[in-house]
Amino acid sequence: MSGRADRAAWLVDPQAQCGTPPEASRPHRLVLLGAPGVGKGTQAALLASRLGCCHLSTGDVFRAARLQAPCDRTPALNAAISAMERGELVSDETVLQIIAERAGCLRCAGGFLLDGFPRTLAQAQALEELLDAEHVRLDAAISYELPMQLVVARIAGRRVCPGCKAVFHVQGQPPRRAGYCDACGTALVQRDDDHPRAVRVRLQAYQRTTAPLTHFFEHRGLLRVVPADGSPEEVFSRTLSLLGVREPVTVRR
Ligand code: AMP
Repeated sequence: MSGRADRAAWLVDPQAQCGTPPEASRPHRLVLLGAPGVGKGTQAALLASRLGCCHLSTGDVFRAARLQAPCDRTPALNAAISAMERGELVSDETVLQIIAERAGCLRCAGGFLLDGFPRTLAQAQALEELLDAEHVRLDAAISYELPMQLVVARIAGRRVCPGCKAVFHVQGQPPRRAGYCDACGTALVQRDDDHPRAVRVRLQAYQRTTAPLTHFFEHRGLLRVVPADGSPEEVFSRTLSLLGVREPVTVRR
């Protein structure tokens, strides 16, 4: 099984099949860290396209599960979706179960970018054990950093396309036709957890549980800090130079 553009295995379930990875140059295996709204998802999409590895987001798994009928979901997944809608973190137990079911994606020869996982120390330790057991080595944990008031402004203006998942910003990256996706024309929406009350809860959760992860990865010599101010292209270029990626890498999507 491998992670490819359709991300079937990651988003659907452990039995799902992705496409076959093409002949790989060196696969990249990265963890992306950063407060909600810092632009991590945008960087993940750019990196995945450039490096050819799969963008694996636990948030995407929960959002995909929300589209299923409640009776088709496990009780753990229903509890996870309720927590997400309140802006709270999903329990470690549920998240780790979701990851364990998708361990094949971590073994994929094409590499991976983990976005939104790990989010707690317990999750980071579990990831380390899982990768050790699979004899897979993490290359780096990239931490995108931005002052908190800029984070809040970015989240408040974020709009997403429920059709093709494209992300816009009412000021920073507006669609050509206000309110509609440039790529597929679907009406844009604000994510439930981007509403102000949920944003406050998410930022508090981030400070309490996720920020300490930078120390975890720093201690292992894996932490790479990238200032997340400026345009997505500027942040992307900083990320590539920090990873030592200079020459264009074959796009495998
Ligand atoms: P994201 O798209 O990464 O911002 O995730 C959206 C929401 O999904 C979060 O606010 C959490 O409620 C939940 N979530 C995603 N990943 C995790 C995780 N690793 N641990 C706990 N909750 C998570």
